[in-house]
Amino acid sequence: VVEGRSHDVVILGGGPGGAATGLALSRHDPSLSVALVEASDYASVRIGETLSPRVRELLAHLGVWEAFLEDGHGAAYGTSAAWGGEEVYENEFLFHAQGEGWHLDRRRFDALLAREAERAGVAVFRGARYLRHRARRGGGWELHLRRGEEEIRLEAPFVVDATGRRAAFARRQGASRVIFDRLLGLYLFFELESPELLPATFTLVEAWEEGWWYSARLPGDRVVVALMSDGDRVAELGLRRRGRWLEELGRTRHTRRVLAAGRPGPGPTVHAAQSQLLAPVAGSAEGRGWLAVGDAASTFDPLSSHGIFKALRFGIYAAYAAADFLRGEGPDRHRSLDKYQRRAEGSFESYLATRTDYYRQEQRWPEAPFWRRRFGLIALSPRQILTAVPEKAAEARREPALYLPAPHLEHLWELCRTPRPAHEVVTACKQGQEHPASDHRIILALEHLLARGVLRVDGSSPA
Ligand SMILES: Cc1cc2nc3c(=O)[nH]c(=O)nc-3n(C[C@H](O)[C@H](O)[C@H](O)COP(=O)(O)OP(=O)(O)OC[C@H]3O[C@@H](n4cnc5c(N)ncnc54)[C@H](O)[C@@H]3O)c2cc1C
Repeated sequence: VVEGRSHDVVILGGGPGGAATGLALSRHDPSLSVALVEASDYASVRIGETLSPRVRELLAHLGVWEAFLEDGHGAAYGTSAAWGGEEVYENEFLFHAQGEGWHLDRRRFDALLAREAERAGVAVFRGARYLRHRARRGGGWELHLRRGEEEIRLEAPFVVDATGRRAAFARRQGASRVIFDRLLGLYLFFELESPELLPATFTLVEAWEEGWWYSARLPGDRVVVALMSDGDRVAELGLRRRGRWLEELGRTRHTRRVLAAGRPGPGPTVHAAQSQLLAPVAGSAEGRGWLAVGDAASTFDPLSSHGIFKALRFGIYAAYAAADFLRGEGPDRHRSLDKYQRRAEGSFESYLATRTDYYRQEQRWPEAPFWRRRFGLIALSPRQILTAVPEKAAEARREPALYLPAPHLEHLWELCRTPRPAHEVVTACKQGQEHPASDHRIILALEHLLARGVLRVDGSSPA
C-alpha cells in the first residue's frame, strides 16, 4: 500500500464533472489541497459530444477557455430535426441550444480538463480506480485506490463523487438512484467514404415510432449514429443485433443518408441513457461530508444535449459547497450541502418539465409506448380512492425506484392500506420529508403502482 498524503477534498472520477469541480476549487480557494482520481487514461471512446454555445462563460470561469479553443474541436451550427412531422427543419424549440456550439472529441476534451486541473494545482491520479473507503474514527474518509499493481491510500474530510451515472461512492452512503425512464442509446460510428454527401455541419434528430435517431458528423471524417429507445422495446424488437439495427436505419427517411456516405464500424454499442436523480445528492456526519456532481447526481436525456454543460455548471456549485463545508462550523456546514441539494433538485424538476414539453411536440404516434410514457399524462383524479392490494405487499417492496426512491413507493402502498383519496395520499406522502418530491412526481408514481396492480382504484370520494 502506497500511503498518499492527506487532502482537503478528494474527487472520484475525472470526467467533465470531476475536473470542473477540481478547477473551480483551485480557483475559489487555492489554499485547499485537492486530489482528482480517474480510473482511465482517457484512451478509450467516450460518448456524448454536442456542447451548447453557452458553455463559453463556464469554461472562461474555470479559466480554460483559451486552452479549449486551441484544442481544435469542431463547430456545430444548431441541429436539424424531423420532429413532430416528416420534414426536416431547423427546430427553434429544440432542446438543443441555439446558435453555434461544439462537436467535441470527448476523449480529448475530458483529458484537456484534467490536464488544466493539474496545471491549476490539483493532484491528478490517472489510471487509478477508487475501490472502497472507510469512515475514520474522529472524522474524515480513508479511500483505497488501485493503480496497476499498487494500492494507494488517500485521506480527506470531503469526498466528491464524480464517477458518472453509477455514483460508486454515494450509493455506498445509502443514496439511491431514482429513474424516470429506461432509455438506451445504441451507438455506431461510421467512417466517411464520400464526405461530400454530408455537410460539414451535419447534425440530425429524427423521431420514429419507437424513439428517435441522432446522427452528427464528428472531427476526423467520422459520423456518429445513435438509435434511442426504451430497454423493453429494444429487447422486443431485437435492436441490439447489428443486422436489425442497420435494417431500421435503412427504414428511416432522413438518417439513412449516412449509409450512402460512409461505412459502418463495429457495433452497435449499448449505453444507458435514462434520466435519473440521486436521492440524496449530498450528506455529512461527524465532520466528514460528501456530495455527488455531474451524472453521479443526475442524468439528463441526451436529447437535451445538456449533460456536459450541467456537469461543468454543477462542478462550480460543488466547489462552493465543499469549500463552505470545510470552512463552516456546526449547522453552517450542513447549510451549504442543503443549498446544493435544493439546487440539484430544482434543476432536475425544471429539466423534467422541459423534457415533457419537448416530447409532446411529437404527436404522430400517440399510442406507441415510447411516446406515451413521455407525455406526462395524468389520468388519476384527486378524488379517486386508492387502496393497497393486500396480495401485492411483497411486490410493493420490490418495485424499482421509478419516479420516487423505493422506500417512498413502499410508503405509498402502506398509506393506501387505509383507502383514501389520491390528493390525501399525495399530502401524506410529503409529510415529514425534508426534501419532498413534487406533487406531479408523486402522482406519476401512484399511476405507475396502479398500472403494476400494486394499488387499485375503489370509487371516488364525494365532491
Ligand atoms: C447516449 C448518450 C449521449 C449523450 N450525448 C450528450 C451530448 O450530446 N451532449 C452532452 O452535453 N451530453 C451528452 N450526454 C451526457 C454526457 O455524456 C454526461 O452528462 C457527461 O459525461 C457527464 O460528465 P460526468 O463527469 O458527470 O460523468 P462521466 O463523463 O461519466 O465521467 C465519469 C468519470 O469517472 C470515472 N470513473 C468511474 N468510476 C470510477 C472509479 N471507481 N474510480 C475512478 N474513476 C472512475 C470514469 O472513467 C469517467 O472518466 C450523453 C449521454 C449519453 C448516455
